[in-house]
Amino acid sequence: MMQDTIGVLALQGAFREHIKSLQRIGIATRKVRLPADLIGLGGLIIPGGESTAIGKLARLYGLLAPLQRLAHSGFPMWGTCAGLILLADRVTHRASDQPLIGGLDIFVSRNYFGRQVNSFETELSVPALAPFSANGEAAFHAVFIRAPAVMSVASGVEVLARLDSAPSGKGVIVAVRQKALLATAFHPELTDDTRFHRYFANLVAAAEQRVDAEIVAAAA
Ligand code: GLN
Repeated sequence: MMQDTIGVLALQGAFREHIKSLQRIGIATRKVRLPADLIGLGGLIIPGGESTAIGKLARLYGLLAPLQRLAHSGFPMWGTCAGLILLADRVTHRASDQPLIGGLDIFVSRNYFGRQVNSFETELSVPALAPFSANGEAAFHAVFIRAPAVMSVASGVEVLARLDSAPSGKGVIVAVRQKALLATAFHPELTDDTRFHRYFANLVAAAEQRVDAEIVAAAA
């Protein structure tokens, strides 16, 4: 079976780090800047950065409509930080003209931690990562940078991690999955721990979807 290529939206933000993490686990990867770059991909990562800038650039380059269509069609996508904001159906403190991709039935506070502590690092318990851990451990070192948080999730959305302890918000949801859509409020690509990248690669393999030229053209 041919291995899937995982794209990384490369308009703004921490896309290079995701590409490095994917390369480290032997996954073929491609930067996505234009709609045609999506064709043939098995999954896509929306990186951290500035969600308004990423959304506006995506609209400018004709990517917004194809991305919205893909997110609602079972195509595997993973948003980190700003990417989590973009994949959410509902966002507070959103700029009035901020475009969203949507697809994840969650309610997100855009600058939940930014208002209180700009950045912090903490250990999270993520039981879903245990199959990817040598010793089956669930602890994940998570880096938060002006991070959003998930205020509520609809039924059908799996909560993968909550804050155990932090300067703010014990119990706050920071990682979720809904079918093939994954979102983390923190930045696994800024650490050496590739378990979330392997978890996402498994979602991609299970989904067995490839972006065809028709989807990209129809949404344009
Ligand atoms: N809060 C930022 C935003 O609104 C996201 C920050 C990040 O991705 N590190 O886009």
